[in-house]
Amino acid sequence: MIYAANFKMNQTRQSTREYLMKLQLHHHKRKLGDRVIVFPSITAIDNYDVDFTIGVQNAYPDIKGAFTGEIGLEQLEEFDIKTILIGHSERREILNESQEFISRKFNFFKEQGFEIIYCIGEPLNVREEGESAVLDYLISQFDGIDLDYSKLIVAYEPVWAIGTGRSASIEEITNIHNRLKERIDRPILYGGSVKPSNIADIASIPSVDGVLVGSASLKVDSFLDILLH
Ligand code: PEP
Repeated sequence: MIYAANFKMNQTRQSTREYLMKLQLHHHKRKLGDRVIVFPSITAIDNYDVDFTIGVQNAYPDIKGAFTGEIGLEQLEEFDIKTILIGHSERREILNESQEFISRKFNFFKEQGFEIIYCIGEPLNVREEGESAVLDYLISQFDGIDLDYSKLIVAYEPVWAIGTGRSASIEEITNIHNRLKERIDRPILYGGSVKPSNIADIASIPSVDGVLVGSASLKVDSFLDILLH
């Protein structure tokens, strides 16, 4: 299982350091083969002395240049960052990232050999249309994405389950992951209100290869409860 923590626009540089040091002390108690990835906010990126992966929540698809407010490859290389989150629903919806831009970002970081956690997920109105509408929607989010990329990890995150406290049901997760597995031979994480109280059930689904955790990852004890459940 992969356990990924997405801090979003939370934590300072100082609180991130304290968090990572505590995680470093305890994460070795995880099950054999389990893996941890943390996505802090960009101001907290550093060369941390930890033996799990630090990734970035976003970057611009270029080496450097006139892209005010953005972070490019050269700046990630300074901290040996080789893992990136792409396609998160908050970037698609709030930051208006189009599928065309997302696939350009994907292809740039693929060419640089990055591990890419690529997020897909349907909004509530699509979920209400039924499972085949959900699947069509998710498949459209693969436009321009190389599903055979060896460093691709997919994260299925239904938008209506993100940050709402209401996770998708075990049946809903199972059905979508099974259908995705028919098309993709890569790990698939589930994300959307994963917390200590539901991780055991979610992790027991055979087609779930890990979880991407937002709110419940913000306190290190809560993330450790998920990791060590
Ligand atoms: C996320 O945004 O990636 C996420 C899964 O958030 P939460 O766990 O808060 O639903």
